[in-house]
Amino acid sequence: MTAVIGLTGGIGSGKSTVARLFGELGIHWVDADDVARQVVEPGTPALEQIRQHFGDRILDPQGGLDRAALRAIVFRDPDQRTWLEGLLHPLIRQELQRQLVPEHYDQAYSILVSPLLLETDQHTMVQNIVVIDVPVETQITRTMARDNNDRSQVERIIAAQMPREEKLKKADEVIDNDVSLNDVKRQVEAIHKTLLVAFG
Ligand code: ATP
Repeated sequence: MTAVIGLTGGIGSGKSTVARLFGELGIHWVDADDVARQVVEPGTPALEQIRQHFGDRILDPQGGLDRAALRAIVFRDPDQRTWLEGLLHPLIRQELQRQLVPEHYDQAYSILVSPLLLETDQHTMVQNIVVIDVPVETQITRTMARDNNDRSQVERIIAAQMPREEKLKKADEVIDNDVSLNDVKRQVEAIHKTLLVAFG
């Protein structure tokens, strides 16, 4: 049986970067953010249910989901947020489970990459938790450089996420990503070996 390993960390901590390094070792990974977008793509039953519930105001001119419009509605109305989460969370979970173990996959484990692994019940889907750790200042400068955001925007997002110390308490393995890419690659290779022993 293929184990599922959770990979998490705050904004700009390096989740995508580290997932790609595991990918280079032949490990399949699925990004929960990608799946959250896929379940509401045009033509999906979920998008149609959302449209029936909230009306055409949550559609963009191309018929896709207008995320900003939907966010504004559920931000004002907790009951509507509960309705939306009740629809989407089980769908996302089901789709994650489907994608995490592809047919004929013969590795000991695959990886669920999720910024909200510890904040949501997604952590119940994994057998082991890897937290990517960087100082807040590194998170800020890397995210600003990548997204062209200003500092206060990034600081607001970090303040809304689970604090670094709490994430570390829940970690089975920690990757220090305040280092060069070569150094992080070595850490990934070491954790890969550990996981092969534990789940192979
Ligand atoms: P988000 O939560 O916003 O999706 P993330 O956790 O997936 O972010 P990445 O996109 O992997 O983070 O990394 C953030 C930025 O930092 C990227 O531009 C990436 O290239 C850079 N980065 C990641 N790791 C390192 C490193 N060890 N050295 C230098 N730059 C890095």
